Amino acid sequence: MKYYITTLGCPKNEADSREMDKSLLLEGFQKANSPEGADIHIINTCAFIEDAKKETIDTIFQAIEVKEILKTKKNDQKLIVVGCFAERYHKEIEIEIPEVDYIFGTGLYHRAGELIRNKFQIPLKQNVDYYKVLESIKSPNKFYAPVKISDGCNRNCYFCAIPQFRGNFRFREKSEILREVQELAHLGIKEICLVSQDTNSYGNHYQEFIELLEQIEQISGIEWLRILYLYPDKKTQKILEEIYKKNFKKIVPYLESPLQHVSERILKKMNRFGSYEFFKDLFSMARQMIPDLEIRTSFLIGYPEETWEDIELIKKFIEELKIEHISFFGFSPEENTVAYQYASKVNKKEISQKINDLQNFYNEILKSIMIKNYNKIYKCILENIRPNELHFRRQQSAPEIDDIVIVPFEYSEWKKKYNHLPKLGSFYNVQITGSISYDYLGKIVSNE
Ligand code: SF4
Repeated sequence: MKYYITTLGCPKNEADSREMDKSLLLEGFQKANSPEGADIHIINTCAFIEDAKKETIDTIFQAIEVKEILKTKKNDQKLIVVGCFAERYHKEIEIEIPEVDYIFGTGLYHRAGELIRNKFQIPLKQNVDYYKVLESIKSPNKFYAPVKISDGCNRNCYFCAIPQFRGNFRFREKSEILREVQELAHLGIKEICLVSQDTNSYGNHYQEFIELLEQIEQISGIEWLRILYLYPDKKTQKILEEIYKKNFKKIVPYLESPLQHVSERILKKMNRFGSYEFFKDLFSMARQMIPDLEIRTSFLIGYPEETWEDIELIKKFIEELKIEHISFFGFSPEENTVAYQYASKVNKKEISQKINDLQNFYNEILKSIMIKNYNKIYKCILENIRPNELHFRRQQSAPEIDDIVIVPFEYSEWKKKYNHLPKLGSFYNVQITGSISYDYLGKIVSNE
């Protein structure tokens, strides 16, 4: 029985799909290379914002087309929808999309194999080799992996529907996380990205998070450790201080902390912590403590009662703090959230004007940030070999979302110099020589 998983959304979903992979393979299923070649097509969905929901619905309908074509070839493919969208709209999918054969939400990924076997009465295959299963989970040319440390969220930001379908905050046992990281290291993974809805709430005390980091550092084979989604509050401040004091060797100089806004008035309306001054102090402190740090944040634009002055405040913040990586999202009222009551007040046109304005402003700042980085030397990982170029990623850039460094590549010259082929997943020191759009150009200074 062959299956294929289509994964939509964020790195958390990627981690969940990997959990499903493991469960399915351990129950004797085999991986297909495409939805067309699968007996079971699983779509791991996202329902974060309006655009994500649209993408999910489009993907389900594309999958139905594949299923229909296969039916004409006498292949009765099963279509399964799982994840955030499934959790949130279970009933609606059941009623309105009868082509979907099975639906389950979040929190059951580790039992995917068993659930699907039971649903479709597929016999269990005995004696599956655990390590062979692990080997087949890893994509051959990928050297990073998101690892989920907790799920759910208790923060109750008024615009956010995530707690509705991800549930209350709960963290994974440290031993379980460490075992997963060890398995990934065994498979050749070099970079671990810790993901969750709310990373700094891990454990019963923030020290437990620090202990987790210390133990991951001990795992040989893991070279880079990236912490994602630190809610910008005092706990994050303490965690950063602790990271600085303990002089961690593998934590990359990258801080991801979504601010959503800098106007205290809007933050209060969002039921979020913080102010312009607090965020400025937090980011400045992080920059002082961590050399070569780069920061990623996001802003939610167009929240009810936001004015153009509030947009100016965001611009002032960006200019002052010179933030290297920013995403702007438009507010979309989500059912069953506190902010949904303002749905009628949303002015979509104004939201896109504000985002365009901010993006144009930011593009100029970003250009100057990138120019300042010319000639600097960064430790990079080789991620892609193209006929005439090599693609590297800096420690300061998260996979799949941030910049890469493109280095011209000529096979015979390389062979002369190094006497071997470039190896994916190896580390090099790369000097920045220029930039092209949002990416850098560079040259290799040395390999390690
Ligand atoms: S911190 Fe706020 S925005 Fe993030 S998942 Fe929790 S409720 Fe949603």
